[in-house]
Amino acid sequence: MRATDVLSHIDEGELIALTRDLVRIPSVIRPGQPGATEAGVAAHVAQWMRKERFEVEVHEVAPGRPNVLGILGERESGGLTLLLEGHTDVVTEGDAGLWTRAPFGGDLVEGRIYGRGSADMKSGLAAAMVAAAAIKRSGVDLGGRLVVGALVDEEGDMLGAKHLCTTPLGHELSAAIICEPEQNELCLEQRGVVWARVTARGRMAHGAMPEAGVNPITALAALLSEVPALERRLRKLCQRSPHLRPPTVTPTIVQAPVQGVAQPNVIPSMAQVTLDVRLTPGPDGDAIGKEIDAVCERAMAAVPGVEVTWQAVNGFRLATQVDKDEALVRAMVKGVRQATGRAPKFGGVPGSTDGTILRMTLGIPIVTCGPGHRLIPHQVDEYVEVAELVEAARIYVASALNFLNG
Ligand SMILES: [Zn+2]
Repeated sequence: MRATDVLSHIDEGELIALTRDLVRIPSVIRPGQPGATEAGVAAHVAQWMRKERFEVEVHEVAPGRPNVLGILGERESGGLTLLLEGHTDVVTEGDAGLWTRAPFGGDLVEGRIYGRGSADMKSGLAAAMVAAAAIKRSGVDLGGRLVVGALVDEEGDMLGAKHLCTTPLGHELSAAIICEPEQNELCLEQRGVVWARVTARGRMAHGAMPEAGVNPITALAALLSEVPALERRLRKLCQRSPHLRPPTVTPTIVQAPVQGVAQPNVIPSMAQVTLDVRLTPGPDGDAIGKEIDAVCERAMAAVPGVEVTWQAVNGFRLATQVDKDEALVRAMVKGVRQATGRAPKFGGVPGSTDGTILRMTLGIPIVTCGPGHRLIPHQVDEYVEVAELVEAARIYVASALNFLNG
């Protein structure tokens, strides 16, 4: 059976309905509200997969926060295992009054499905589920295993992806398609991120007698003045990419005092700034770390007596890059042609995804490709085009068969 024959088993009405159903189950993580997790969506996904007779594994990552994995095909020695990856959490709807559609309504209007998560990324997840169901229903023999993963916490600490990397199923993976909203472009590169939390420690004193203390805020001012130079150095260190914006260093949080009450006449003992450092492929974590060390040392030199240290909140998520010669990429290039009749467009992911964790931890090739405009995630009136949604499911079917059945 050819890939193109299997495409006819995609049920568009079912795909649209499933996407709307997933959007209607809110999965914003609201700390302190026990029910506000991915549990509802995860249960719906698991039930749907069981109905389709997928083999289903549920991995409890944290209380009420399960990864759901649906598996097709037999585990054979030498066979490949491909993951179609999505996440079940969504970001906050923010001020619902700013939306013209109900944030969790799943409205279908003029070829678009609206709602928080419609693009990022319940549509991509639904497309992966329906693609796998089409393969199952077609009866085509799989030369390996196809896994649909609905993971938790992508918008947070990526606990779901980190957990998957510790499981037997994670270790079995040969490659992954990350179904994030990228306008169905084939993204072989993703920018990396390091959140560098810089802490300056001085000595507390009266504001009227600064000579009696050591002001950590002054050291952070020196550090912030070095940010443009740090950005320039990182741009030299990292590769240029036609699909990714160059590295950036952006201060996002400034805090002083860190503990106690803020008072105008008190020099605090500690001050902190967080730098959001975005990277393109090239340097390793050590090389990036050395550049950040250097600006900390210059800030210390600028204000004698202040100690300046930093740590990476959430670790290093380096930029990822996959070669065009990889079997997965070749399978997808062919898959896009079979699914759409067009040559693929290549692109790049502006931020990091669960794929970053899979690539860094397991070393497997990843390609990010899914329905939804790249800039729409996290905005009000988020939507996905139904045409792109259907196209994504077709791309997943053809690519999976090309990859697993060679
Ligand atoms: Zn996402």
